[in-house]
Amino acid sequence: MIYLDNAATTAVRPEVVDAMLPYYRTNYSNPSGVYGFAGKNKNVISDARDVIASVINAKGDEIYFTSGGSESDNWALKGIAWAYRNKGRHIITTKIEHHAILHSCEWLEKEGYDITYIDVDEAGVVRLDKLEAAVREDTILISVMFANNEIGTIQPVKEIGRIAHMHGVLFHTDAVQAFGQIPIDVNDMNIDILSASSHKFNGPKGMGFLYVKSGIRLDSIIHGGGQERGRRAGTENVPAIVGMKTAAELAAITMTKRIEYETKLRNYMIKRIMSEIPYARVNGSMNDRLPGNVNMGFQFVEGETVLIMLDMEDICASAGSACSSGSIDPSHVLMAIGLPEEIARGSVRFTIGYENTMEEIDRTVDVLKRIIGNQRKMSDAYLRLTGQVKKAD
Ligand SMILES: *Cc1c(COP(=O)(O)O)cnc(C)c1O
Repeated sequence: MIYLDNAATTAVRPEVVDAMLPYYRTNYSNPSGVYGFAGKNKNVISDARDVIASVINAKGDEIYFTSGGSESDNWALKGIAWAYRNKGRHIITTKIEHHAILHSCEWLEKEGYDITYIDVDEAGVVRLDKLEAAVREDTILISVMFANNEIGTIQPVKEIGRIAHMHGVLFHTDAVQAFGQIPIDVNDMNIDILSASSHKFNGPKGMGFLYVKSGIRLDSIIHGGGQERGRRAGTENVPAIVGMKTAAELAAITMTKRIEYETKLRNYMIKRIMSEIPYARVNGSMNDRLPGNVNMGFQFVEGETVLIMLDMEDICASAGSACSSGSIDPSHVLMAIGLPEEIARGSVRFTIGYENTMEEIDRTVDVLKRIIGNQRKMSDAYLRLTGQVKKAD
């Protein structure tokens, strides 16, 4: 099997599994216990907080453990919305956010909040002029993702944070695709709140964290016990916390090498596709792009069909378009960068990880070339364009 869907999830590193096992097998204590057996796990959690914080230049007590990226995003938006509702009820975000952000915003709209969805340019980069122009007296939060999960575009985060702070507005970033993949410094980049998810950087699923700069108010969305300094109830998932810590540590140590390696494979793959498959385009920015992201649009094919054909060859990839309730809607991200619907529907996303090899990339491009060639033989529009059938009269 060739796995090229690392933006959807990643394999758990063996070292991560090894680090987690003792917390299932022997030290299974509830960290809130008063006995020494529990106290050990209390220390383990606080050490994990410090390690994770150090990766983004934060402090340990600014890290809150959650059940993943979706919870972190929900908490950031709803928690800020409630805590600052007397200051204002306006939030600014973009049209290309993950659904954890977009659907939370839709819910907040029903609760009486006003949300502005900013446009992006054709490369998928947020329009800073439009962002700044959208700021109002009652704006409480700007939420812009660090890097996009479909097209890999990296946003000018530091500049967005600067604009937010200039107007006395808080800045949240969904860094689920960025944490562990590219360098992040919350202080240098003017970030107040940041979401991350463990399974996107080779840690366990169902675990994530929210960074909240000290001094920022944030209402809870999960009420109960006093865990996470009273802000997020629920017995700590100690094995998963240890797993995420180990994954974050390894991600930090190996980051420079992985960026170099994945960028090399990515550029090679894009170059081969562009030179060997006609009527293809790269979706998203080539300059500000996650190392492992290859999102390509192909004319005269259906992305969904290409994926099924790839699967028959044991190659895992994703569509640029998401299936919803039987009908295939073109991806909101590809529509936001201005792609015609036909190309949005003919888009495929490959996301490369450090475990992929050059041989896998070569085989994938070979197979892709054949699949697209075969599909196009069934497209009247393609056959007409290439003069293989008489023009309709
Ligand atoms: C995967 C993803 C999420 C959701 O994270 P989960 O841990 O799967 O809930 C949120 N935002 C982005 C950008 C993502 O890629």
